[in-house]
Amino acid sequence: MIRPLLPAHEALARLREGNRRFTTNVRSLDALLSHTKRAELGRQTPCAIVLGCSDSRAPAEIVFDQGLGDLFVIRVAGNIVAPSQVGSVEFAAERFGTRLVVVMGHTLCGAILATLEHMESPGGTSSRALRSIVDRVRPSIEPLMRTELAHDRAALLREATRANVRVAADHLRHGSQLLEQLILEDGLLVVGAEYDLDTGNVDFFDGTGG
Ligand SMILES: [Zn+2]
Repeated sequence: MIRPLLPAHEALARLREGNRRFTTNVRSLDALLSHTKRAELGRQTPCAIVLGCSDSRAPAEIVFDQGLGDLFVIRVAGNIVAPSQVGSVEFAAERFGTRLVVVMGHTLCGAILATLEHMESPGGTSSRALRSIVDRVRPSIEPLMRTELAHDRAALLREATRANVRVAADHLRHGSQLLEQLILEDGLLVVGAEYDLDTGNVDFFDGTGG
């Protein structure tokens, strides 16, 4: 096992700082110049693992103002956790010693909306592969449909996005023996966040201890 590179809370501070630069339209020189240092990246040392949505408006490297080699990014529609996502997180945590995992959802997520639409009219045209994504998002939305949120679509979508992030983060914390052990014994931290497309702000709302 590789020695942890950077404690989770320091990696989190780095992402918060990077996001602050992004929201104020500033870019770090390190990130800008990283493309001139390709040859020095024979070995990667990412400070964080980010599981984000494939949405074209939510690229982790840009949102956190990071450069080449800084982030190990897994992107899939709806930032769902299927076995290959768990395996990717395990891979980076074990091989590179990265100790921060961020599950990042975002406002106006098409995958959340598609899931809601599918629940409303199940006979839709989605393919089996597409349904495999919907089926992983659905359990986060179903309990909300039984609350008063069912009558407020905008609020429902907002809460569903966050619920989906919480479920994905919990899945990573408890769905892998390797990750569970790293959390208990080796400082691995899994946090949930939401990226706001309007403001550019990333709110780390789950697992940071306030
Ligand atoms: Zn999305």
